[in-house]
Amino acid sequence: MARSPFEWIDEQARARSRAGLVRTLRPRPADSELLDLAGNDYLGLARHPEVTEGAARAARTWGGGATGSRLVSGSTELHAELERELAEFCGFESALVFSSGYAANLAAVTALAPHGSLIVSDAGNHASLIDGCRLARGTTQVVAHADPDAVRKALDTRTGPAIVVSDTVFSVDGDAAPLTALAAACREAGEPGESGASRKSGESGRPGAALVLDDAHGLGVIGDGGRGAAWAAGLAGAPDVVATVTLSKSLGSQGGAVLGPAHVIDHLVNAARTFIFDTGLAPAAAGAALAALRLLREEPERAARARAVAISLYERLTAEGLEAVRPDAAVVSVRAPSPEQALRWAAECRAAGLAVGCFRPPSVPDGISRLRLTARADLTEGQLDRAVGVIIEARR
Ligand code: PMP
Repeated sequence: MARSPFEWIDEQARARSRAGLVRTLRPRPADSELLDLAGNDYLGLARHPEVTEGAARAARTWGGGATGSRLVSGSTELHAELERELAEFCGFESALVFSSGYAANLAAVTALAPHGSLIVSDAGNHASLIDGCRLARGTTQVVAHADPDAVRKALDTRTGPAIVVSDTVFSVDGDAAPLTALAAACREAGEPGESGASRKSGESGRPGAALVLDDAHGLGVIGDGGRGAAWAAGLAGAPDVVATVTLSKSLGSQGGAVLGPAHVIDHLVNAARTFIFDTGLAPAAAGAALAALRLLREEPERAARARAVAISLYERLTAEGLEAVRPDAAVVSVRAPSPEQALRWAAECRAAGLAVGCFRPPSVPDGISRLRLTARADLTEGQLDRAVGVIIEARR
């Protein structure tokens, strides 16, 4: 028989197996009794009756799918309602909904970084931003993590338009980006133009850089009532700031959005390939996200509770000698001494009824393995006690 064209894949699989880095899927049964600190349902809304009813009602009204791309048949009044309410809640002029946060990030970066532009990207950014940089026509400079001076230096080298791209809360360690300093670096990169005709002709001065923030882990958790990290930093609605969000974490649904000035959002409608060539967000997902957003407005205390649960988890685990990063939102990252230990801890937690995330290389480029715990606003004190006890026992 002819040799398989996939021999190289089998070789990779063997290497992965030798390194103990094989990933496997573990389908979750509907009646799972596991206490879940692995998912991203930060506010405990994914199974909230108003959210599931929002999904069901939307599916009954609009169907199981959007039927087409947004510019053809896939824009419903429900999508428009969600976009209006998302923009208003987060303090931006306009919003555009995508079928995932991943697609929203690809759209924001590629559509805002044309040929001849510079993209300055934090070394800790999420894979979807990294892929946006890879697909964009502009040139990318990756800069040290959370380092506004490095951003400033990178911006000095630009010869055309520039964007600075950063997660607001980094998904691996849960630390926050220095948003105020990043916005200052973007604005300082501009030079005032002269007044009158020369400014009109665009011959003098130079615009600042735009700041593109991925607020996947900030929406619902950071800022008054969870209005997001851009809101908390006073950057929401600024003419030079664009934020992306996912509907799949705090809002307990699926999908993503880009938020920004109306003319920037109009540009995405016309230029962003993951908007134009992708089927619109499923109505059920839009309905669930809208219901969750309304719950957030009615119950703003959920955001503060998620943050408090994260701090409590951090304080209790570090008091027991575990090494963790002080959380700025709902993600708590606990360092493990090796990938094998991280796997073993996670397996022992699971055996004791607790689901935790386990990050190992190559998902973590710095080579440091971690348990990743997500705080949830709906965790009871009893569940928190249990989770802390199980993790400490697993470490022994
Ligand atoms: N950005 C960040 C920081 C994320 O953590 C994620 C999800 N893991 C995404 C974007 C992608 O969002 P979605 O899952 O909605 O595609």
